[in-house]
Amino acid sequence: MRFLQPSRVTDAEQSFDRAYPILAAMRRTNPRQVSECEQTWLLFDSFARTVVDVVALELDEAGFEIPSQSLENLLTEACQRRIFSLSLPRSLGGQGVSLLALSIGLERLSRSCLGVANLLAVHGLALGVLGAVGALTQLRQIAAQIVEGERNGKPYLISTAATEPEAGTDLEDLELLEHARLRCEAKRVADGWNINGTKIFVSNGSLASAHVVIAPTDRSQPVSSLSAFLVERDRPGVKVVRVEHKLGQRACPAAELSFLDCFVPDSHKLNQQSVAGKALDLVLGASRSTVAAFGSGAAFGVLRDCQRICSTSGAGTAVEGDQESTYAILSQMWQNARLARSSYLDAVLANTCFGLISLMEVAILRQLDRVVPPGIGAWATSFRVFDSPLLNREARRWLDHLSPEKVADASAHASAAKIACSRLALENCELASDLLGPLSTVESTGIPKRWRDARLLAIYEGTNELNALDVYKKGVLQDSENAIG
Ligand SMILES: Cc1cc2nc3c(=O)[nH]c(=O)nc-3n(C[C@H](O)[C@H](O)[C@H](O)COP(=O)(O)OP(=O)(O)OC[C@H]3O[C@@H](n4cnc5c(N)ncnc54)[C@H](O)[C@@H]3O)c2cc1C
Repeated sequence: MRFLQPSRVTDAEQSFDRAYPILAAMRRTNPRQVSECEQTWLLFDSFARTVVDVVALELDEAGFEIPSQSLENLLTEACQRRIFSLSLPRSLGGQGVSLLALSIGLERLSRSCLGVANLLAVHGLALGVLGAVGALTQLRQIAAQIVEGERNGKPYLISTAATEPEAGTDLEDLELLEHARLRCEAKRVADGWNINGTKIFVSNGSLASAHVVIAPTDRSQPVSSLSAFLVERDRPGVKVVRVEHKLGQRACPAAELSFLDCFVPDSHKLNQQSVAGKALDLVLGASRSTVAAFGSGAAFGVLRDCQRICSTSGAGTAVEGDQESTYAILSQMWQNARLARSSYLDAVLANTCFGLISLMEVAILRQLDRVVPPGIGAWATSFRVFDSPLLNREARRWLDHLSPEKVADASAHASAAKIACSRLALENCELASDLLGPLSTVESTGIPKRWRDARLLAIYEGTNELNALDVYKKGVLQDSENAIG
């Protein structure tokens, strides 16, 4: 990050290294990257303490129904800290923060509130789609709006609309997709596409300025025609039908969107080849790794709550007066949280080496970040480079250069970590109930919210059952042909 200075060895650095021994080892070989991780952690830590912790319970209680005062304030504060452009390349006005650093920051944020973490992170999913299909011109345009939004304190959010009333899990696996009952479709018309259909559970759908809509151009051929369209919220035919009454992660609204004869020009169809398979696997590999980081944060969060409650007196807990039982439960919770952390770091690194991030690394984006000066230089260069038809054509072929085995490997790591971390987060909630007894049902302790929030981790970015299928197909089967495994 440009605004961050390299630091000397400090107490904070030592405690960061103790929290992340894998990074402490890396610091010797790649101090710059580890420093970026630490600085990103600090950024989210300060945001979590000063902004999120103050409103988390209130946002959970009122959800989207409040006049949005606290949500507005939270979004403005996030803009001031430039959280929405963290992962954008520097050559596009962002800060070029790695997936590793971002995940570590999001883990910290999830310790405070999973709903807020999802609210701030979910637009990365849509950005991932733009990156995976090599839609450089649209990425540049969106990046400019995100940076501008941060400047004005009004975030430019983009949502991803894939799930439909009759198709959720089916969209995320090639074999299931073949038989999916998709209703939403984009039909060819003069100079563009007409979208008709309904999408549900769209995170940030009611807040987003634009949506990346995943729909086939031929419903009878979903595998070969699955496409991604950029649809601005004020286009005729786009409607937010309702916002769901969710039990968990209530700070992040999930909306039903309808598209009625919604026209988008040719330039808004982001992909050339179908997005089913490799492209979606890449995006989901990165986003599932992030959800795994959420799980680790949630597991640590509930541990911290329990420690706080026990240290105030221990009175009223289920194991009051029984110190050994208390220690045993807290010890198990700590182990779970650390296991979750190791698991998501592994997935993030796999996706950095073999998945979406490796695509960005070999691509012109990262090269540009190394040579283009920040500020006006970046702005001028990005126009020329990102809108070049030649480069756009080449970028759309990036996917072809990635080996299917590597993409599968990244995907399997991410799915496995997502399953493990969401389970470990829930297990810590169960342990909190064992420890606190009836106290764990008192809203003001924060534990009931932890339960409700953590439950959703097993559902989005594919349910854990679908993730298990992914692990089997791309991990277990592939590893059986690999001598090392
Ligand atoms: C809080 C939240 C936020 C979300 N955000 C978004 C978003 O931003 N954008 C978006 O597009 N979607 C979003 N979703 C939707 C989410 O991705 C879907 O809920 C998920 O993919 C599951 O689909 P479904 O709900 O239709 O369940 P279904 O597909 O109907 O599945 C129901 C149950 O059957 C199981 N099942 C289904 N098929 C199989 C199979 N072949 N093998 C084994 N088990 C199977 C599932 O695991 C599940 O337990 C969100 C969901 C939630 C809850």
